[in-house]
Amino acid sequence: MLWRITSFLFCQLAGGLLGWFVAGDRGAQVGIVGGAFGWFLVDMLRGLRVMRWLRRGGQDEPPSAAGLWGEVADRTRRAFRGREQLAGESDARLQEFLAAIQASPNGVVLLDPAGRIEWSNQTAAWHLGIDPQRDLQQLIGNLLRDPAFAAYNAQGDYTHDVVIPGRDSAPGRPLRLSVQLHPYGQGRKMLLSRDVTALEQAETMRRDFVANVSHEIRTPLTVLAGFIETLQNLPLGEGDRKRYLDLMAQQADRMQTLVSDLLTLSRLEGSPLPGAGEWTPVATLMAQCEQEALSLAAVLGKAHELRSEPPEGRELAGAPSELLSAMSNLVSNAVRYTPAGGHIAVRWRDLPDGRGEFSVRDTGPGIAPEHIPRLTERFYRVDRSRSRETGGTGLGLAIVKHVGQRHGAELRIESAPGAGSTFAIVFPASRLRTVTRPDAGARARPATTAP
Ligand code: ADP
Repeated sequence: MLWRITSFLFCQLAGGLLGWFVAGDRGAQVGIVGGAFGWFLVDMLRGLRVMRWLRRGGQDEPPSAAGLWGEVADRTRRAFRGREQLAGESDARLQEFLAAIQASPNGVVLLDPAGRIEWSNQTAAWHLGIDPQRDLQQLIGNLLRDPAFAAYNAQGDYTHDVVIPGRDSAPGRPLRLSVQLHPYGQGRKMLLSRDVTALEQAETMRRDFVANVSHEIRTPLTVLAGFIETLQNLPLGEGDRKRYLDLMAQQADRMQTLVSDLLTLSRLEGSPLPGAGEWTPVATLMAQCEQEALSLAAVLGKAHELRSEPPEGRELAGAPSELLSAMSNLVSNAVRYTPAGGHIAVRWRDLPDGRGEFSVRDTGPGIAPEHIPRLTERFYRVDRSRSRETGGTGLGLAIVKHVGQRHGAELRIESAPGAGSTFAIVFPASRLRTVTRPDAGARARPATTAP
């Protein structure tokens, strides 16, 4: 400001001196006015240059000017720079924020107060079949035409979600989405979509499982209750009493087997994966299976030819109790489903790629192809009455599959009606080793199971 006043006075003084020098006192007066006018003219030109620079948006270099206008230009330029920097930082933060929403496993769609799409992430695009670019400004109601969503959107109660089929939902491959609107800001809404297919499937499985277990337990319980009532109310002879008590013991056994299989499955699900540090000779496992098969055949009163061919020196890494449970389930199924006089071969084979195959082949009734993919489902039985007659729970192959998965092994089933069945567990090479002991090895030997 001081510079401005000084320069103004200097211009008047210079004009006055020049006027006095040229035309005396009158000239001095005209010179002072002329000096002031000249100063205003120059000042106005400077101001105009700054004004023009501001009109251009202040993006280029400011006009170089001293004094007040120079300072105005300089301060404005600095204010512009500061604002640009802030806008850049906010933009970068917004981009980071949008990138985070993009990475979300949930679908996110931002809607304006009229329900038009302002932004959506890629997951929402997959879920709802919208195009994040092309469908901008489209009404969500026009793109999401599911009646349940339309009713939900119209109703205006967004305190809960609505479950609708996803875009790629097909009868064999359902996709279920949970969709919820969340109001925010001034009438805006955020639509969140979540894939709940697995959740719904798990819930259905849980419900089916509870229903199946209840059914399996209710049947023997009803029979038991009936016998107890008979024993309480009827004066029975010693022979009848014994017969009823035997039948009751059978039902109690059935419930015990079921509970024990259920506990095995729950232990398999809840315990950590078996390590690869505990080695068990395959021959030991196969010898135990053979023993169990012989006892079961004796209980069932069946005679088969059972051939067991354990390998020499081969060892398997994993949880021995689980391995034995899986192997003996396969052998006991063969004993239970093969009619008396049939053949059962229990083998170990080293495959060329280093894996090892434990297999049980029988000459039983065989299984129709449509049942094979479902055999490992819990409580799935081809023939309910035969399974029950022989003490089956419908959980044996589910246990085998689970144990196999926990040991990185694969369950293979080959069977055809009338042609017998072969069930095999193929163990990975990483869980196998060979140890050489001078006295190792049990020789293949046929055994006859007798009633
Ligand atoms: P279950 O306790 O009923 O035997 P599993 O899970 O062990 O249950 O087997 C499922 C079904 O597979 C059985 O009900 C039976 O119909 C069929 N199955 C299993 N093993 C054999 C076999 N060796 N021969 C014929 N059918 C079999």
